[in-house]
Amino acid sequence: MYSFDYERPSGIDAAAAAVGEDDKYLAGGQSFLPTLKLRLAQVDKLVDLGGISDLVGITVSGGEVTIGAMTTHAAVATSADVRNAIPALADMASNIGDAQVRNRGTIGGSIANNDPAACYPSSLMALGATVHTNKRSIPADDFFVDLFETALEDGELVTKVSFPIPEKAAYAKFPNPASRFALVGVFVAKTAGGARVAVTGAGPCVFRQGDMEAALSGNFSSDAISGISTAADDLNSDIHASSEYRAHLISVMAARAVDAAS
Ligand SMILES: Cc1cc2nc3c(=O)[nH]c(=O)nc-3n(C[C@H](O)[C@H](O)[C@H](O)COP(=O)(O)OP(=O)(O)OC[C@H]3O[C@@H](n4cnc5c(N)ncnc54)[C@H](O)[C@@H]3O)c2cc1C
Repeated sequence: MYSFDYERPSGIDAAAAAVGEDDKYLAGGQSFLPTLKLRLAQVDKLVDLGGISDLVGITVSGGEVTIGAMTTHAAVATSADVRNAIPALADMASNIGDAQVRNRGTIGGSIANNDPAACYPSSLMALGATVHTNKRSIPADDFFVDLFETALEDGELVTKVSFPIPEKAAYAKFPNPASRFALVGVFVAKTAGGARVAVTGAGPCVFRQGDMEAALSGNFSSDAISGISTAADDLNSDIHASSEYRAHLISVMAARAVDAAS
């Protein structure tokens, strides 16, 4: 690890003012601290968000569940409010990594990192969530740009995420047995505006499966998508799974998610 300065502000404005061009925010450190330890990244200063109480918490109102950026996966998984409003979101959070990861990892860190195998991005895309930052509000469809890349500008701070409550939803994941990250995960939602299907783990970045969305919007059942496949051409291929296997898993996980939601 290269040496760096450390600051722990107690407010959102102070955090934004503290972060410079070569600095980074620190949430639970689950992704970023290993990256620093391996010297894959170097910062002048870490701005620790752990002292900002305004970034923590869950509220349900106006047909939306809103989760503060520093809220841990464990808090989402065990929240009665989340389980009542969007049980699929609580289930998804409860299956992230292991207990240590869930107790330190945060929704803000997960989406800002945009790991291609992370679960949260698929829930934001399928539920049509909005990411709120210290500068603006960004629809999930515009937030996840590419591999480990988001629409966030340098120094922009995720403050919270709001999820419209769907009619029904579910997430099905085929986990890497070592890390529990998604080899393929599919989050489906039936909303007033139609069905939404978001796939994580399969490609370089979370994406929506349009053919399945069209079929499910007419008939929200796994029968409706039984003949729909996903082209393997742009999918990931590595020691864990070939692109063809991942394409197959998308169909299997999508059907399981629709059955679970129904
Ligand atoms: C062993 C292991 C297993 C895991 N399994 C899963 C899994 O099954 N599913 C899954 O979805 N994830 C999984 N994860 C990821 C985990 O859930 C964390 O959410 C993820 O690692 C990000 O960690 P963090 O929240 O501690 O953020 P950090 O590591 O602290 O930060 C990550 C990045 O986000 C930036 N950042 C953090 N907060 C903000 C903010 N509010 N605004 C702007 N930028 C910010 C940081 O500067 C940094 O670049 C796993 C991680 C580990 C280590």
